[in-house]
Amino acid sequence: MSTYVFGHTTPDSDSIVGAHSLSYLKNQLGEDCIPTRQGEINPETAFILERFGFEKPMLKTNYAGENVYIIDFMESSQSPEDIAEATILGIVDHHKLGDLKTAGPLEMWVRPVGCSNTIVKQMFDYFGVEIPKELAGMMMCAILSDTVIFKSPTCTKEDTKAVKELAEIAGIEDPKALGIEMFIVKSDVLNDTKEALVLRDFKDFNMGSEKIGVGQLEVVDLSVFDDMKEELFEAMQKIKDEAGRHTVLLLLTDIMQEGSQLLVLSNDNSKIETAFSVSLEDNQVWLPKVMSRKKQVIPFLEGQF
Ligand code: MG
Ligand code: MG
Ligand code: MG
Repeated sequence: MSTYVFGHTTPDSDSIVGAHSLSYLKNQLGEDCIPTRQGEINPETAFILERFGFEKPMLKTNYAGENVYIIDFMESSQSPEDIAEATILGIVDHHKLGDLKTAGPLEMWVRPVGCSNTIVKQMFDYFGVEIPKELAGMMMCAILSDTVIFKSPTCTKEDTKAVKELAEIAGIEDPKALGIEMFIVKSDVLNDTKEALVLRDFKDFNMGSEKIGVGQLEVVDLSVFDDMKEELFEAMQKIKDEAGRHTVLLLLTDIMQEGSQLLVLSNDNSKIETAFSVSLEDNQVWLPKVMSRKKQVIPFLEGQF
């Protein structure tokens, strides 16, 4: 029986590349793994796959009765609906401890680094398995994406070290230049519906008894959003209503200015204002230096719910 390897819902580059890289490693170690994904890939991930000649992992949303490895998440809210009926053999992740439960013992590789693929790189080293050139290039891009080319406060020395070593294997001389190229692709927000934009990198969290959704768009120039705020708010309202969410937030992150414009739709704006010690104006506020949802947004929201 094959084991499926996949990342979170609305997969990002770390989740998709991680499905490939962890499957490859496990297969080299004698297991039988198949990389899968829980949803559509984003333009940045499509760019990475094409650049290094990989296919999209197979789309699969049901896992009852299957063995699985999960990567880049450990929250039930980001899992397949039937995850409780699957056997989780292992978790590779760099997020806060989630609420998933297992019936048996499992393998866990969880570290506070900037990207799951940094951990997978360390696993390759630990097991003494060589990383193929093209896979190394993809893993490097996943780390550049998650760490916003080393600018995110989540970035650690281990991430920069992994990028350096992966770039050498991949024969890439200037990883930062490739990173910028990737973020320019990521900045294309004109060819999607507003709802698709809000959902492009969107995560739900259960906080207290409430469901909170937080989306993030990382771009090289925030002015691309100037004429579409109203429509983004309309899309957020729809997303908020359809799943009974208490709050929907959208972070518009400017990776050059290094900060985020926060758009807020909430049943209680005061909770958001208190969380970030700000006053909202037209349901928005500029948060200087805030680039990481994981480290600079979610913990403060948790405190309020
Ligand atoms: Mg991710
Ligand atoms: Mg990640
Ligand atoms: Mg991210």
